[in-house]
Amino acid sequence: MLPVVALVGRPNVGKSTLFNRLTNSRDALVADFPGLTRDRQYGSARYDGYQFIVVDTGGIQGDEEGIDRAMAEQSLQAVHEADLVLFLVDARDGLTASDEHLADYLRRQEKEIRLVANKVDGIDGDSASSDFYKLGLGQVWQIAAAQGRGVSKLMKEAFKPLLEDFPDVIAPVAEEVDIDEDTGFVAPDPATPIKLAIVGRPNVGKSTLTNRILGEERVVVYDEPGTTRDSVYIPMVRDGQAYTLIDTAGVRRRGRIDEAIEKYSVIKTLQAIEDANVVIMVIDARESISDQDLSILGFVLNAGRSLVVAINKWDGLESDAREWIKQELDRRLGFVDFARIHFISALHGTNVGHLFESVQEAYASATKRVGTSQLTRIMESAIDEHQPPLVRGRRVKMKYAHAGGYNPPLIVIHGNQVSNMPDSYKRYLMNYFRRSLQLMGTPVKIEFRSGD
Ligand code: GDP
Ligand code: GDP
Repeated sequence: MLPVVALVGRPNVGKSTLFNRLTNSRDALVADFPGLTRDRQYGSARYDGYQFIVVDTGGIQGDEEGIDRAMAEQSLQAVHEADLVLFLVDARDGLTASDEHLADYLRRQEKEIRLVANKVDGIDGDSASSDFYKLGLGQVWQIAAAQGRGVSKLMKEAFKPLLEDFPDVIAPVAEEVDIDEDTGFVAPDPATPIKLAIVGRPNVGKSTLTNRILGEERVVVYDEPGTTRDSVYIPMVRDGQAYTLIDTAGVRRRGRIDEAIEKYSVIKTLQAIEDANVVIMVIDARESISDQDLSILGFVLNAGRSLVVAINKWDGLESDAREWIKQELDRRLGFVDFARIHFISALHGTNVGHLFESVQEAYASATKRVGTSQLTRIMESAIDEHQPPLVRGRRVKMKYAHAGGYNPPLIVIHGNQVSNMPDSYKRYLMNYFRRSLQLMGTPVKIEFRSGD
């Protein structure tokens, strides 16, 4: 389990700047997809050797009324579920009434809180921060999120008290994998379970799908869940392949009479995605695709997880309703175009078998091994078809490519000037590699290493 860090503060203090810094430090999979990054609220963060989940709560003033109040409450739900709260204030603005309201609120939550004064670049940080001690939240951590100043130190200190509960916060050092030129495709070992998370908003049909799958298959044993934040892990076998189903809907608990239907928890969904090899994102064909769906999908992409999309409740839909949802998918899901989309009925079991074929395919694609010479050949033909652009008057020169890892596939490209490669060309390369290697269902990461 990874710790969850919530960013809280009034608008404009620099939450999204910090969010971007914490999440983009990982070789960005999504190089700047229009419309996606701006609205993104959940991030899978790799920063300075730490890994964690980060949630941007949006701007909260702390004194909202009426409708705003309800919305703020929803944002603050993330605070309830977080393990660590970074409370951001603006060192240039000084202490404001909103900061005080928010501090009052946060103090009542009994959470690990760090008070962070942002924008200390170019000003005297110590004197700008002194006022914030009045908030009674202890030390004031000074950072400049825009430049990244003070951020490493903050994270290092802030994580110290959490280490015992979350040893996984220390990211494993990625090993360079040695890949045999000839092996290429590695078939999944049927005995090693593929971890499969079924996620989606409430009422899209996750439980129905899970029950359908389990009803058809032999369930080996149920695990007991720990807290409400935990998903249920269900081992199962299908067509000879072992799986661990990560059930965010809590199918089993729902069966008990004395247990209330669980509240939907975004954090639970994020944890399940982090832990999965493949994610099935369930979307209700009778609802439009919400911003929250996009945020969750952005998180899947950012975390480098394999993805299969299930459009559920396809039964009994009129043809213009079907046309409408297909247009929605075209319009909004372009950034996950590597994923297969299935139109299913969890209720009747229609197309559930095809869903599993895509899960297997996605897992095989994510773990496929490819050798240096093949990758370099593909890189060269990509260049032949479409030259990289000039950067400051010089042509970016790519020399060779090799595999840096898999699950998801990581392709490392060496050359000159490559660190200045524009996102558009990076995206072109990602798609080119994906097509050439026939990878379906997994994102592909590209990392550039400059020789100059
Ligand atoms: P949010 O509303 O809390 O998410 O705030 P943003 O991240 O959108 O930042 C608000 C403004 O503050 C933007 O214009 C940022 O460029 C600016 N900003 C963020 N961090 C820093 C910083 O470290 N130093 C300075 N000088 N400006 C910053
Ligand atoms: P969850 O909250 O995502 O776990 O959703 P549920 O599995 O509890 O389903 C919510 C509602 O949608 C229930 O009334 C289901 O019977 C209904 N439902 C689920 N799958 C389908 C389907 O494929 N077709 C139709 N027509 N209804 C479905």
